[in-house]
Amino acid sequence: MTRFAQRLSSAPRPRRARRLVFVLGDQLDANARGLRELDREHDAVLMVESEDEAEHVPSHRQRTTLFLAAMRHFALRLVERGVPVRYVRLDDAHNTQTLGSELARALEMLDPERVVVTRPGEHRVESAIRDACGKADVAVDVHADESFTCSLDDFDAWAEGRKNLVMEYFYRERRRALDVLVKSGKPVGGKWNFDEDNREAFDEPPDVPRPYFARADEVTQEVVELVRRRFPKAYGKLEHFRWPVTPEEAKRALDDFIAERLPRFGTYEDAMWAGEPVLYHSRLSAPLNLKLLRPHACIERAVEAYRAGAAPLNAVEGFVRQILGWREFIRGVYYREGSDYAQRNALQHQGSLPDFYWTGETDMRCMAHCVGEVVEHGWGHHIPRLMVIGNFALVAGVHPGAVHAWFLGMYVDGIEWVTAPNVVGMSQHADGGVVGTKPYAGSANYIRRMSNYCDGCRYDPKKRTGDDACPFNVFYWDFLLRHQKRFESNRRMTFAVRNAKRLERDEARAIRKRADTLRDDLGIA
Ligand code: SF4
Repeated sequence: MTRFAQRLSSAPRPRRARRLVFVLGDQLDANARGLRELDREHDAVLMVESEDEAEHVPSHRQRTTLFLAAMRHFALRLVERGVPVRYVRLDDAHNTQTLGSELARALEMLDPERVVVTRPGEHRVESAIRDACGKADVAVDVHADESFTCSLDDFDAWAEGRKNLVMEYFYRERRRALDVLVKSGKPVGGKWNFDEDNREAFDEPPDVPRPYFARADEVTQEVVELVRRRFPKAYGKLEHFRWPVTPEEAKRALDDFIAERLPRFGTYEDAMWAGEPVLYHSRLSAPLNLKLLRPHACIERAVEAYRAGAAPLNAVEGFVRQILGWREFIRGVYYREGSDYAQRNALQHQGSLPDFYWTGETDMRCMAHCVGEVVEHGWGHHIPRLMVIGNFALVAGVHPGAVHAWFLGMYVDGIEWVTAPNVVGMSQHADGGVVGTKPYAGSANYIRRMSNYCDGCRYDPKKRTGDDACPFNVFYWDFLLRHQKRFESNRRMTFAVRNAKRLERDEARAIRKRADTLRDDLGIA
């Protein structure tokens, strides 16, 4: 028997429950309404590990480990507090391996009057829960997720009647509403946005402080072994699992960021450097998305650092915008747009995802590094995601559903409410412009400017035709040629489309031909 199973078995197993509080793997908030209102005498908690959740998209081993390890630590805390918990382990002999079927089994055994759950971060999961409860004729209460700074009602009230949902306007309103870096209704420092100061690149190897890594305890080690055993064909390496799995570890990661990284975070927010995946980034998205950490705490700590003179405004504002602005904005978009959002394909791209997305084995140096970091750690910061990995799939014409499944499964912070608007919307422009008014399509220029990847790459970042032309350039111009009709009326694309139209006919033909050859060679076509 594992240590976790032993510790769990020392607690009384629930036999009946008046209310069954279903705690999902990304809702590990001890203060959630369902747990706040729990009556230990009559109610019980249900937690389920299932193969289906680890395999409905190809999930990185570290992502699966993170969810299971964090769930187990959370369950043990509940048990220590005397909460009756029915915990279904992945390796329980009777586990039917889907959330819905395990909920159905729990309903049969515990016979509750109602099921209580915080709104799931994926429409699919909410449907499975409603379905199981409907079949068993048990009422279900879906509570609002209170771990965000903006409720979905407040987001809808803001979005109602707007022709376009622009994050910047949402962000300003939230800064005012929550009184963050605001004085007399005006932004501290005289500007809402310090993006212009936040685009520096490194011209020599950066000397970055070593980030905080959580140590895997006995419970986590058992999960590492379990995942290794149960998912031998899963992608991603598991040698360096160091993610926070408890609120204490998440707080230490926040402390480390505020003290060591925040001061330079803004200036180098968009920079990349081979072999330095973390740089000055926080890596707090995973503990935030699992609710081990509250966004309010991140914002407060960053603002405190600014007030104490420990971090400059451009850094603090940039961080606050990611947490208070972008993160809350895309969550609002996900629920507002409805359950078909992740399936959209406005540009009608049909290509397959190249094999190197799973291994990082490619002669494109930027992709080898950026994908390699994901394979190694299940993580990469926003620029490799958007301007390298996502950009390549967009300009090459990969099906956005395949790109989305990759992002959802391969990053430790992947949950559909995050990945659908970020990938289907912002990165692949497959929502037709709900999230971004223009596609994030770029040539090698941006990568060359913001990183050292092009140094020593076998491709030439300045060429767009020929065998040694950078594939980003080939696909970028091919993308513009393929979609010029669609984008010629887009004000933000006028310049790019005009340049594509100015290409000599022979050059345009050579680009199209090379793009087709590359698509064949990479297995995209
Ligand atoms: Fe990437 Fe092109 Fe630069 Fe090579 S030359 S690293 S493929 S952008």
